[in-house]
Amino acid sequence: MPKKITFADLAERYRITNGKKFRLKDHDPADTWKFHGKDGAAALLARGVERLAALQEKLYAQDQRAVLLIFQAMDAAGKDGTIKNVMSGVNPQGCQVTSFKAPSATELDHDFLWRAACALPERGRIGIFNRSYYEETLVVRVHPEILQTQRLPAKLVSKHIWRERFEDIVAYERHLARNGTVVRKFFLNVSKAEQKRRFLARLEEPAKNWKFSAGDLKERGHWDEYQAAYEETIAHTATEDAPWHVIPADNKWFTRMAVMAAVIETLESLDLAFPKVDKAQRAQLAAARTALEGE
Ligand code: ATP
Ligand code: MG
Repeated sequence: MPKKITFADLAERYRITNGKKFRLKDHDPADTWKFHGKDGAAALLARGVERLAALQEKLYAQDQRAVLLIFQAMDAAGKDGTIKNVMSGVNPQGCQVTSFKAPSATELDHDFLWRAACALPERGRIGIFNRSYYEETLVVRVHPEILQTQRLPAKLVSKHIWRERFEDIVAYERHLARNGTVVRKFFLNVSKAEQKRRFLARLEEPAKNWKFSAGDLKERGHWDEYQAAYEETIAHTATEDAPWHVIPADNKWFTRMAVMAAVIETLESLDLAFPKVDKAQRAQLAAARTALEGE
């Protein structure tokens, strides 16, 4: 890693806590800051994996906070690979990943936050949302006809619906923060040209064919509308409690390192520590030891 750049610097560079002046055009998908290639990053990522594992053990032992990491992106931006890599050292017992697809009939019988609430991480755990309730102001905004499947009373669907959803999401995330769940959101910012390259690779390489679906090309046709929806969503929902991280996603090695940095920085900000053993418990441990040695 170039001298003096820390995980904290990396995390800060891409963190948005106030969306007032947020413009996607100010964020270059191909940015790698001062890093010149994946070789240096590999060692850093390996260090990060170890550090994250140690932090997660404390989170689990302390059993007070939960951490929710939300991933949103256009297709082929690298959500799955990033989740796999960043979490590769974490104890599977302390971590759960939930992928949100188009809602089921049961899910549509409830408000749009319900299915997310059911999947929230317990205290002591890291929960990952691969897509999330943010689809409600992204895919649903780009395809407003989806709203009709949600069976909302007509009176409640007005031109203000997107603003109302932003408000409700911000309020919900504040509620989570006030109850000990730390929320961090990641937008993997891939360029249209890089998405094309990755789609072509999926079509050309037999081992990648399964990753391609015809629907992906259709959504690509709405690229500009999605970019506008992302920009507005991030602008309205970036807060101190629940910041967005807009992560350059044209270089996978960089994406992984920047996400890793933000996750580590988040856990380090929590002052995690193993629970202290009090006097009575110490006496109990001493008694257990005496009993065992006396067997
Ligand atoms: P991959 O990136 O590996 O293709 P994916 O996350 O795209 O995985 P898919 O099964 O291809 O998974 O797509 C899930 C689809 O579900 C996405 O197109 C997404 O927009 C859609 N979806 C998610 N949440 C909602 C929602 N609340 N309303 C409507 N569609 C949704
Ligand atoms: Mg897909």
